[in-house]
Amino acid sequence: MRAKLVAGNWKMHGSLAENEALLRTLDGACSTLGATAMAVCVPYPYLAQAQSVLEGSDIAWGAQNVSEHARGAYTGEVSAAMLKEFGCRYVIVGHSERRALYREDDAQVAAKFRAVKEAGLTPILCVGETLAQREAGQTNDVVSTQFQAVIGGQGREALDGAVLAYEPVWAIGTGRSATPSQAQEVHAWLRACAAACAGAEAASELRILYGGSVKAVNAAELFVQPDIDGGLIGGASLVAEEFLAICRAAGR
Ligand code: PEP
Repeated sequence: MRAKLVAGNWKMHGSLAENEALLRTLDGACSTLGATAMAVCVPYPYLAQAQSVLEGSDIAWGAQNVSEHARGAYTGEVSAAMLKEFGCRYVIVGHSERRALYREDDAQVAAKFRAVKEAGLTPILCVGETLAQREAGQTNDVVSTQFQAVIGGQGREALDGAVLAYEPVWAIGTGRSATPSQAQEVHAWLRACAAACAGAEAASELRILYGGSVKAVNAAELFVQPDIDGGLIGGASLVAEEFLAICRAAGR
């Protein structure tokens, strides 16, 4: 049985004062969420704040990006070891905004995924198709290529302690979520891809999150799908009551 995980991706939002209020409200309510695990992935400068507010709480925190390099002359970059020093558990890799806006390709995403694992942190690997790719019937090919580029060849070990997130690009920040059946279909396909490269047991233990315009109103119908193990939540994770309602929907 895979316990559900709901992770917030704050993107480039927040301020010390806003974060303090949000994190304290989430922390105050998280004991009511049962077995659902909760995490927030915050901008780098706020990791110390997340660590100080959430230390000892059941809410994990993490980052939205990482360097593929361990150290060196990489101005502006942040290594996985640095993230670990700030108590991060999760690191998002391969988010579609990074792939599209910062030209991260599959090879770079794979290197980042490896760096996160080597530091003993949990990567949340994002895959997803554009609208044009969906309309051309290429969804399964696109997500399995993205998945294989990172996991393929590494076998079971690569999936241990990793989380996968299916995030259709056309659903991110658009208010247009995938329907529960569209999402379930892709999640089942991804689980089959995982089984093919890492075996049935590893695949059945793999958490696959759905992300893309999840709100309190549509969370329950998505999370009830057999292969959807929680959500990666962007905009709605910035509003405490909305995020908590999504987490509660995962616990039902
Ligand atoms: C995301 O950025 O990972 C995301 C899912 O965004 P939103 O929930 O705002 O669509």
